Amino acid sequence: MSEASPAGVPFEPGTVWLVGAGPGDPGLLTLHALEALKNADVIVYDALVSDRVLSLAAPEARREFAGKRGGRPSHSQRDITLRLIDLARQGLRVLRLKGGDPFVFGRGGEEVKALAEAGVRFRIVPGITAGIGGLAYAGIPATSRETNQALILVAGHPAADGEDRINWEALAAIGQPLVVYMGLSRLAEIAGRLIAGGMAPETEVAVLIEATLPDQQVIETTLGAARDGLRQDRAAAPALVVIGAIVGLRRALLSNLIT
Ligand code: SAH
Repeated sequence: MSEASPAGVPFEPGTVWLVGAGPGDPGLLTLHALEALKNADVIVYDALVSDRVLSLAAPEARREFAGKRGGRPSHSQRDITLRLIDLARQGLRVLRLKGGDPFVFGRGGEEVKALAEAGVRFRIVPGITAGIGGLAYAGIPATSRETNQALILVAGHPAADGEDRINWEALAAIGQPLVVYMGLSRLAEIAGRLIAGGMAPETEVAVLIEATLPDQQVIETTLGAARDGLRQDRAAAPALVVIGAIVGLRRALLSNLIT
C-alpha cells in the first residue's frame, strides 16, 4: 500500500478541509468532521450549520459566518472562495464547513475548483445529506422494493441565473419519488407541474422542516393539496419536500419510531 490510510491524514497548516456537517444533529457528524472541528484554526461556516455542531469546535478556533440569510446572499461565492484562499495562504488550518454534504447542492465543487486553481491543497470530507438523513429521522425509507427503484434528488430553486431548467412534467413521468431541496416556497407551482406531467393528485407528500434538529416537524399532505397551497408558518426554516409512495411507508413505522 503506497498511500497512508485516510483516517491518518493530518490537518496541515495552509490547507482547507471542505467538510459536510450533516443535516443538523451533531450525532450525524463523521469522525473526520469532528477531528476537523477540534483541530481547525478557523471555521468558515454556512447558515445551515447548526449551533450544536459549531459548539463542538475548539474554543480558540475563529468562527467566520459565510452564508445566506433568508435566501438572500450576504456573501458572494467569489468573496467566500477568495477568503478561503487568503486564510490558507496565511498558513492556517481552514475548515470550510457546510450543511449536509458539501457536494450536494452545496457549491462545494465550485469552491474546490477555485482552491485548485489557486494552488491551495484541500481535503474533502462527505457528510450525510439532508435528503437522506432527514428522511431517516422522519421514518421514510429512501428506497424499498415495494415502492421504488430510484430516488430523485432535485433542487426546487432555479439555477444561479434564475432560470428553472427542470422539466418537472418529465420528472413526473419517471414515476419515482422525488426529494426536493429548496422547494417549499415554490411547492404549489411544482406540484401543479408534476400533476400536469401525470402524477396523481393523491400522491403522498411529506414536508420535513428542520429535519434531525430539536424542532423537527413533518407535515403530511398530498400533491393535490400542495398544489392548492400548503399552510405552514415556518417559511424561513430549511425544509425538504418528499413526493411519492415512500412517504406512505412511514405510517407503519411511526408508532415504534424513537425520535
Ligand atoms: N448541502 C446540503 C444542501 C444545501 S441546499 C445537503 O447536502 O443537505 C439547502 C437546502 O437543503 C435547504 O433549502 C433544504 O431544502 C435542505 N436542508 C438542509 N438541511 C436541512 C434540514 N435540517 N431539514 C430540512 N431540509 C434541510
